[in-house]
Amino acid sequence: MHFSRFPRVRLAHLPTPLEPMERLSKFLAKDGPRLWIKRDDCTGLSTGGNKTRKLEFLMGDALKQGADTIITQGATQSNHARQTAAAAAKLGLACHILLEDRTGNASPDYTLNGNVLLDRLHGASISKRAKDSDMNKEMEILAADLRAKGKKPYVVPGGGSNPVGALGYANCALELVAQANEMQLKIDHVVHATGSAGTQAGFVAGLVAINSRIPTLGISVRAPKEKQENSVFDLAQRTAEHLGAPGIVKREHIVANGDYVGSGYGLPTDGMIDAVKTVARLEGILLDPVYTGKAMAGLFDHVRKGFFAKDSNVVFLHTGGSAGLFGYPDTFDLPGYV
Ligand SMILES: *Cc1c(COP(=O)(O)O)cnc(C)c1O
Repeated sequence: MHFSRFPRVRLAHLPTPLEPMERLSKFLAKDGPRLWIKRDDCTGLSTGGNKTRKLEFLMGDALKQGADTIITQGATQSNHARQTAAAAAKLGLACHILLEDRTGNASPDYTLNGNVLLDRLHGASISKRAKDSDMNKEMEILAADLRAKGKKPYVVPGGGSNPVGALGYANCALELVAQANEMQLKIDHVVHATGSAGTQAGFVAGLVAINSRIPTLGISVRAPKEKQENSVFDLAQRTAEHLGAPGIVKREHIVANGDYVGSGYGLPTDGMIDAVKTVARLEGILLDPVYTGKAMAGLFDHVRKGFFAKDSNVVFLHTGGSAGLFGYPDTFDLPGYV
């Protein structure tokens, strides 16, 4: 894979660190798998996260096409929207964000704090759409409107998940395996949150392209297993084709688990609350309520059920999202002053 073939702007602090989680490993199982963390929450752009890797290629494409305005969409507390707003600011582009009310949470913290505060701080214009709106259509309507006004809009799909954005995660696969080789670390499994599918699709396409034979488990934050695996597989195939390696990704390379969604996207679960608190207290690392908290709850459960061999090395790919914590201040039942 030769990423210099693709237009790209540098936005992320790379490589992100790969670190052991010693206290968490011991806490979950005395002689269980060693847990590691790939810190893509430290990509640097406006509190970081996984969308920044995708935006390097998406924004490269936007600039190549002569865009002056970026349009994207997401849930109210979208980390993708926030990183897109920051990238647009850095590149001097206007940014319009459509936010879908997926949770029905009308509290001021949820609707104005956290990621939304940062969207506004970066100068993006934000507007709301009702739950289950056709967000792609909404973006097209806005794009047509802006074109009629003489603007050159570039539409970034939700989550930055298309074959261009997914290149960022093929690149992450390369980066992670290079780090592991350098450290003489044999990675037995990678676990991470999966939503709009671009992270897992690009990551698996990259892992397969370099013949790493490292299995990946995506913990779904929205769709059930089968549906999530199908959308990841579809995008992984298109990403491999975009990379110039059509047909390399097989259906069995794509594994997702839908058991940790709870009652819906962005709605807290007990497992998420426990995972966020535990990792904060044992490792000093911030997870988030929507993605990495649920993914970590899935990792905890798999470790406790003996899913990973005792002597194995499991890497949690931390995809970011801590800004979202400030949209959920009452979820964690935290002690006050003593
Ligand atoms: C978007 C996001 C994900 C999911 O990545 P996809 O590429 O959409 O599957 C995971 N974690 C965080 C924090 C995110 O913002």
